[in-house]
Amino acid sequence: PVVTRFAPSPTGFLHIGGGRTALFNWLYAKHTGGKMLLRIEDTDRERSTEAAIAAILDGLQWLGLDWEGETVFQFARAPRHREVVEELLAAGKAYRCYCTPAELEAMREKARAEGRAPRYDGTWRDRDPSEAPAGVAPAIRIKAPLEGETAIEDRVQGRVVIPNKDLDDLVLLRSDGNPTYMLSVVVDDHDMGVTHIIRGDDHLTNAARQMIIYQAMGWEVPVMAHIPLIHGPDGAKLSKRHGALGVDAYRAMGFLPEAMRNYLVRLGWAHGDDEIMSMEQMIEWFDIDDVGRSASRFDFAKLENLNGHYMRAATDDALYESFVATLPYLAGGQAMLGKLTPARAAQLREALPGLKERAKTLIELKDGAGFLFAERPLALDEKASTILDADARAMLRDLQAVLSGVEWTVEATEAAVKAFAESRGLKLGKVAQPLRAALTGRSTSPGIFDVLIVLGREESLGRIADQAA
Ligand code: GLU
Repeated sequence: PVVTRFAPSPTGFLHIGGGRTALFNWLYAKHTGGKMLLRIEDTDRERSTEAAIAAILDGLQWLGLDWEGETVFQFARAPRHREVVEELLAAGKAYRCYCTPAELEAMREKARAEGRAPRYDGTWRDRDPSEAPAGVAPAIRIKAPLEGETAIEDRVQGRVVIPNKDLDDLVLLRSDGNPTYMLSVVVDDHDMGVTHIIRGDDHLTNAARQMIIYQAMGWEVPVMAHIPLIHGPDGAKLSKRHGALGVDAYRAMGFLPEAMRNYLVRLGWAHGDDEIMSMEQMIEWFDIDDVGRSASRFDFAKLENLNGHYMRAATDDALYESFVATLPYLAGGQAMLGKLTPARAAQLREALPGLKERAKTLIELKDGAGFLFAERPLALDEKASTILDADARAMLRDLQAVLSGVEWTVEATEAAVKAFAESRGLKLGKVAQPLRAALTGRSTSPGIFDVLIVLGREESLGRIADQAA
């Protein structure tokens, strides 16, 4: 059975590219009836943080991507990594290198001067260890093949061939006894039984080096699929401005996880022209062989449109639940949550069908719902205060008198407002706009008669009176 893994380094939040890598691994495992494992690559002790680990787990959970079994922490496995190095030493496939930092620097310097890539020159590869200088702790290097080539049969990139002369004797164990990243990845993937490595194509050159370790150990090399990175809309490397943010930032911008998943899966993979797909469809259709070779472009407008679709398509109950669950993460949402009395919750739930038609994100939904939480007298936004000029305020006074006599239903209030507009020779909008401004403090809102009903008679008449002249 297929075993994939997601192997983030906890040196920052779960960024959007990592989220997509996790999604591809997860989908491929589900598609094949296999499983996805999670490994936290925390070997960089200086840069790995608990906060980053928490952010990664939280981001995966939010995206709905689960993994099997215990999370593996790479640093804790260092003794096992050292054990493998001992095996390689004993088999004569690795050796101790006593080069000093100054000697290594001189090697790099020489390469620079000759205009070629730096490369370990193999000084200690065949040298007698008895010549080792006293007091220098050795690093352990692998004996990489000197001739021939290393070929990766990549499921996305195709056959990638690297001449072995370009791959030097990489360090497995540093002189301080710490395993290198290259070694740890190979040992962990092997021990975890990983059959498929799906990761960003920035790891492609590492893959060739890792294959040398697999071969030295006589281990089977997993299937590899190096997926193209996500670029900005201009084709350049994804920058913050273009969306290179943590998954948590997308939650805070009010995107739904289902929209996010749907958006991410289409970055580099497609199923015909299908734009919108359920989780079940993604699982059924996804295959790494169909991942494209060119970089995909991140497009905020597309994500917003997709999110708007998911908001409108959600049942009102489901959307209500997502909204309330997301409120703590939205700017100003905590304050709104504090004011969400049972009465207001009922109003919000009632207003939702109208609100969601006008919102592409949960932030917009929150802004749209703001009028329910406003305190009298309402603060008016700029457009609303322009609408409420002297004429409009005078009109509101008469309208308030009319409305206070009608039954409080959508039909009755609508009939009354229409009759009022007609009697004044005004278009409905000329009455509805000031009414909306008075009731919500804004120039946009759900249908104005819905607003009247959701707010209730007393609150509505009070708000109109507040603005009437
Ligand atoms: N820890 C690496 C990263 O976050 C991934 C390594 C791998 O997938 O092999 O980029």
